[in-house]
Amino acid sequence: MNLLIKNGHVINPDSGTDKVLDILIADGRVDQIDVNLDESAADKVIDATGMIVAPGFVDAHAHLREPGNERAETIESGCKSAMNGGFTTVTAMPNTNPCMDNAAIVSLVREKAHRAGYAKVCPVGAVSKGRAGQELAAIGEMVREGIVAVSDDGSPVATAELMEKALEYCQLFGIPVMEHAEELTLTRGAVMNEDFMSAKLGLKGMPTVAEDIIVSRDIILNRYIRGWLHISHLSSEYSLGMVRRAKDRGENVTTEVTPHHLFFNDRALETFDTNFIMKPPIRIEADRLAMIEGIKDGTIDCIATDHAPHPHEHKNCEIDICAFGIIGFETAISAVLDMLHHQHAVPVKRIVECMSTNPAKIIGLKDDRLRVGAKADITIFSTDREIVIDPEKFKSRSRNTPFKGLKLRGCPEYAIRGTRVVKCEVGEEDK
Ligand SMILES: [Zn+2]
Repeated sequence: MNLLIKNGHVINPDSGTDKVLDILIADGRVDQIDVNLDESAADKVIDATGMIVAPGFVDAHAHLREPGNERAETIESGCKSAMNGGFTTVTAMPNTNPCMDNAAIVSLVREKAHRAGYAKVCPVGAVSKGRAGQELAAIGEMVREGIVAVSDDGSPVATAELMEKALEYCQLFGIPVMEHAEELTLTRGAVMNEDFMSAKLGLKGMPTVAEDIIVSRDIILNRYIRGWLHISHLSSEYSLGMVRRAKDRGENVTTEVTPHHLFFNDRALETFDTNFIMKPPIRIEADRLAMIEGIKDGTIDCIATDHAPHPHEHKNCEIDICAFGIIGFETAISAVLDMLHHQHAVPVKRIVECMSTNPAKIIGLKDDRLRVGAKADITIFSTDREIVIDPEKFKSRSRNTPFKGLKLRGCPEYAIRGTRVVKCEVGEEDK
């Protein structure tokens, strides 16, 4: 099967390409990238006039819930959801049940993803056995089975001793330790950010200090070990400053921010909508604006969704007993384009770096995936088409999103991986 992508604006930060080109894909591989390619050689043509064509988007932080919570998501539904949102590669975090702390489960997850045949899944193994924070998991065996990082996500790495060992051990394999930075003794029973708004609403708050303490501990340890620390879902301005200084000193610290931390602040909680309940919590406006600055100045390497599906009854309940987290694959591109590109003038190329080429480097994908001879791995999106987000169109099994009904400027159009071509549909045209 030959697929021709016609007249798309190709933006590929890896090769420096930034111009209108045609791309011919033959049997799932990139065959030609050039101007005025012949349409008669193609079985199918995508008219990408006015659209951006980029190396496939990569999500460095996602929960696919299988094994253990298949009512929320399966690997298959997660992979379909990812591609419907414009992602061709996603990670799978290890807080499954049983926990992904051994080679057998890593192999199972990869096998199921392969069989589903949609997005590529890169598993992230647990740091500690059962994520219990006591002893290291079998990291070497999991690396041989294909993990791209380790994390005890959902919880921080429990102790400095364990973090030191993990950083040291992972250095041998060239993979990062991904940290969920939350000092748990400061967040017990809390549901939102601690500040004026939590006091006003009478809800228990998580202070940014809970994040800052773990980020600080880990940066100090990483400097000592010379490992690779990746801070997941950064949300505090003070932590951002610590990451910036570590980078200035030449230390190997990378980080990510979620679309919802770029888009919302804690005033959203005035609605008491549980779709604004997540960890870390959405913070005050100053933190949100700091994250946008972090994207602009390069301190933040990538944007990751923290896709966290939950069944209806775990979200449709009282705020102090609801599950933390929201789904993210199918709203990320629209939220980021609307907020960063249109409202804060972030160039499209920088967005492609943050959602494609930078996360690809962090999880160890091959360089320059959009080149002749490579397996097709492409995301096509519009920067200007306005849509109203409609969760009924989502392929995820869950619907826990705060973006429902929002009119956003920019949207995913197609995700292509090998011979799989998905036309993205995440909302309705605004009438
Ligand atoms: Zn987390």
